[in-house]
Amino acid sequence: MIFSEKHELIRKLVRDFAEKEFTSDILDELEETGEFNWEIFRKMAAAGFTGAKIPVQYGGQGSDYLTYVIMLEELARVSPVLAIYANTSNSLGGGPLLLSGNEEQLEKYLKPAAKGEKILVFALTEPGAGTDAGGTTTTAVPDGDYYVMNGRKTFISGAPVADYTIVYAKTDLKQKGARGISAFIVDMKLPGVSLGKDERKMGIIGYPTCDIILEDVRVHKSDLLGELDKGFSNAMKTLDGGRLGVAAMSCGIGQACLDESIKYSKERKQFGQPIANFQAISFMIADMATELQAAKELVYNAAVLKDLNRPDAPQACYMAKYFASEMCNRLAAHAVQIHGGYGYIKDYRVERLYRDARINTIYEGTSQVQQMVIAANLLK
Ligand SMILES: Cc1cc2nc3c(=O)[nH]c(=O)nc-3n(C[C@H](O)[C@H](O)[C@H](O)COP(=O)(O)OP(=O)(O)OC[C@H]3O[C@@H](n4cnc5c(N)ncnc54)[C@H](O)[C@@H]3O)c2cc1C
Repeated sequence: MIFSEKHELIRKLVRDFAEKEFTSDILDELEETGEFNWEIFRKMAAAGFTGAKIPVQYGGQGSDYLTYVIMLEELARVSPVLAIYANTSNSLGGGPLLLSGNEEQLEKYLKPAAKGEKILVFALTEPGAGTDAGGTTTTAVPDGDYYVMNGRKTFISGAPVADYTIVYAKTDLKQKGARGISAFIVDMKLPGVSLGKDERKMGIIGYPTCDIILEDVRVHKSDLLGELDKGFSNAMKTLDGGRLGVAAMSCGIGQACLDESIKYSKERKQFGQPIANFQAISFMIADMATELQAAKELVYNAAVLKDLNRPDAPQACYMAKYFASEMCNRLAAHAVQIHGGYGYIKDYRVERLYRDARINTIYEGTSQVQQMVIAANLLK
């Protein structure tokens, strides 16, 4: 895609920020401690990243989707973990509110999230309801002005540092499957909300993940988000947008893998010459660059379709997520291979990229889910 000057400038600004601020000390500390880095989060919020896609009247920058994917790509190119710091409020955290929130809710919850003053996360998955999210067993039962909520949400990104979470719970037990589910905004400080253990993850270490346990949590009816019993479509529409974010971050990871591979293959000598001279290596690099470009074009195209509010945008997002997340895993595997034994050693960036890439084909709908939805749209 040929970008406008405005989008080129945004790319440059975000790239400069990430290269300057995401120092190797910060990245190593994230990896070693697994802890959320508040200092860099605040800097990213002050730079406007946490509110990039959120309308100006709710504290954000009101950017278009193309700006958003460029931002995530450039942040993930330097740090896939810190890209998620910027993404949550724009995507799974803020998305449900933008779709269904009333003025009071947008003011109270979205605005501070856009500015990075509060952290808002998304709790759909349960131990027994992953891909089959309609199998939600968390319940919210009315009691006067409140709903009493019970259940357990699993693998919730950012839960250990969250102020609020969107929770999807069954409000009509008589309805089967995805019907009768409602969305709620839950204050993490409410009595009865507790956290499971911090998950020890393969990658994206430094953006903590854990379960949220809800035991007789009294949620005020003013925190019902959208229409009663109609929350599942809010979750699915939020994920449509979220998938584009994952696709963009996958392109950033792919770009980093390509950059590292080009650099290393020109430096590393075997048989008296740079390994880049061997066709086996240079063809791998040619394939990596081609696949990366194809993924980027899918992502940019999906972003433009979303900006135009076109009905084919969701299908373009599924395709972009599917292809780009698989692409970044293939590129990470090639990058490790090109680095030989050094690629297996933690001192080399590609080792971490390989692990960070892995989540992208899993969360916000596995690759199999994307295939199912793409096929269903084609075959209906
Ligand atoms: C680090 C991390 C962060 C996460 N963050 C969040 C979060 O913030 N909020 C949240 O709500 N969730 C979050 N998740 C959950 C994530 O979205 C789920 O793990 C994912 O949707 C898959 O669900 P599952 O793990 O239960 O796998 P399962 O659904 O059990 O799937 C297992 C395998 O079976 C396949 N499969 C399942 N059903 C079908 C089918 N019908 N046809 C073909 N294949 C099928 C899947 O593709 C997969 O390969 C996170 C997960 C992780 C690991």
